[in-house]
Amino acid sequence: MSVLVYVENAEGNFKKSTYEVVSYAKALADLLNTDLIAISIGEVAQDQLGKLGKYGASKVINVKSDILKTFVIQAYASAISEAAKKESADVLILANSFSGKGLAPRVAVKLQAALVDSAVELPQIENNSFTVKKTAFSGKAFATVELHSAIKVIAVNPNSFQVTENSGTANIEDFQPEIKDSDVRITVTDVVRATDKIALPDAELVVSAGRGLKGPENWSMIEELADVLGAATACSKPVSDAGWRPHEEHVGQTGIAVSPNLYIAIGISGAIQHLAGVSSSKTIVVINKDPEAPFFKVADYGIVGDAFEVVPKLTEALKAYKSHS
Ligand code: FAD
Repeated sequence: MSVLVYVENAEGNFKKSTYEVVSYAKALADLLNTDLIAISIGEVAQDQLGKLGKYGASKVINVKSDILKTFVIQAYASAISEAAKKESADVLILANSFSGKGLAPRVAVKLQAALVDSAVELPQIENNSFTVKKTAFSGKAFATVELHSAIKVIAVNPNSFQVTENSGTANIEDFQPEIKDSDVRITVTDVVRATDKIALPDAELVVSAGRGLKGPENWSMIEELADVLGAATACSKPVSDAGWRPHEEHVGQTGIAVSPNLYIAIGISGAIQHLAGVSSSKTIVVINKDPEAPFFKVADYGIVGDAFEVVPKLTEALKAYKSHS
């Protein structure tokens, strides 16, 4: 019996969401009174793997293979499910990230496990019932689901669980899963980044703007604010539809779903389709000249004002703050 957590890396580095899922998995392992084992796939430095002990993993299974250097979803799913079988894992935890969303159902099928995605809380375990709270309808509602199978797969939403450090250490164990030819029907031959900027789904701070900005020529003030904060930039759908900003910046129901620590929405009305992709952000700041804009209803902080006056002042104030700190 054990809890297994898949620790996703980006070019050899663990993301914040990785430490969140390890902390989540450790809390669950403690609830179940069992060990936490992590599985890492790809080229990750030994010191980074060892660091997972600080977040609660007692062992790290390190899968290194030329075939698995890039993300090949079917092969990764096979490697994870083989590790789960080897470790007799009862529960597998992953991040509900882009790759986690693809891996979780594939691994669940291989393990004949019940699956819950978009989990936002630790499971409630009482008598024989195992229930998990998750978001539903693009974050507009919550659902509580009960898992009945012996093995369970849980994909945890980014930013829904606090990273917790312990004082533990992890043993690192190499593992060579059997990868069948049928698992490698697709190989990634090249990855060309659209931009060097922080990837939107992973960003902890996001500065986003909408049609209130009037035109693409006004985005320099958005980029300046984002630069000062070290934030990624995002936009509403009509903005990317009009070609003012690239499509990979479009957030919302039909765009990217983000859950940063801070989401600053500038000149965005807060239509339900936009909120669907941003409402799980920790703190939402809204700048809009219309006090009736729907976005204010979900804002933690709101500034009623003209973005062309407010944003440059905010950027200057942040620059001044940074130069004194
Ligand atoms: P607007 O609604 O035009 O709002 C502009 C805002 O800027 C207003 O609130 C205005 O008060 C404010 N403003 C104007 N001037 C200033 C100023 N000088 N200073 C400060 N504030 C100012 N939208 C998304 O964003 N993402 C999605 O994924 C998405 N999916 C959709 C899916 C479907 C099926 C449909 C039907 C729609 C979808 N939409 C989506 C569109 C959505 O319904 C809204 O039309 C869109 O979000 C509005 O974008 P906006 O807030 O930038 O523009």
